[in-house]
Amino acid sequence: MKIIKRPAQWDTERKKFRGNSLGFVPTMGALHEGHLSLIRRSLKENDLTCVSIFVNRTQFNDKKDLINYPRPLKKDIVKLRKEKVDFLFLPAFAEIYPDKYRFRILENRKSRLLCGAHRPGHFEGVLTVVMKLLNIINPDRAYFGEKDFQQYMLVKEMTEAFFMKTKIISCPIVRETSGLAASSRNRLLGPKEKPLAPFLYKALKMRKSDEDVKKYLENRGFKVDYVERKWGRRLAAAWLGKVRLIDNVKI
Ligand code: AMP
Repeated sequence: MKIIKRPAQWDTERKKFRGNSLGFVPTMGALHEGHLSLIRRSLKENDLTCVSIFVNRTQFNDKKDLINYPRPLKKDIVKLRKEKVDFLFLPAFAEIYPDKYRFRILENRKSRLLCGAHRPGHFEGVLTVVMKLLNIINPDRAYFGEKDFQQYMLVKEMTEAFFMKTKIISCPIVRETSGLAASSRNRLLGPKEKPLAPFLYKALKMRKSDEDVKKYLENRGFKVDYVERKWGRRLAAAWLGKVRLIDNVKI
């Protein structure tokens, strides 16, 4: 696996493989089975796969969340090598933001709902970094998880709105055996919180109103940001202590 740190270095590399299809999996690292499912799909569907690890600070509305975000880079590299990923794109902030975030992608409707309503500026940071990464890497296909359903939808619609060539592919949510959706933030859950976390998924599947699901979660110690039906899904975000969990199910 070749580790690439600069966009110009990637351009040189990509030229060597002209004619081969390229799949791309953008991540913020702390890789788990959810990430690996996207990576395996890309490996299967493309001649070459590039994974990026970049903790994109412009999408963090909460400084503490950014500071606490896990960064086990060495372990991540071992996992990627084991999967036989071809390229790891590992840029520094200045490589991605030479403009210091003067230029941004703004979406005016769907990004204001759900997670967007609770995390000001979050989707602006997400869409901006995804636009930059897709422009740098220029893949045929890019893989996104349905765990972040609102993000997947916004990214897909952004690529259509800007006539971008990359095909955006969604992948199903990978769960731990408890039902809890795999997430980099799960490792921040304390011993009291970890056994409660699977109730989020359980609650979403119940035949109860959104309001009753919210109460059910609050009775178990969650602080709920939202439980809402939208886009054929029931989606929720809720805090357990200092950890914010999100999940959704098809309805
Ligand atoms: P992140 O590193 O959290 O930015 O996630 C990188 C990609 O992995 C995003 O497209 C996520 O939606 C996806 N992802 C994260 N967790 C899961 C999961 N449990 N199942 C499927 N995809 C996931």
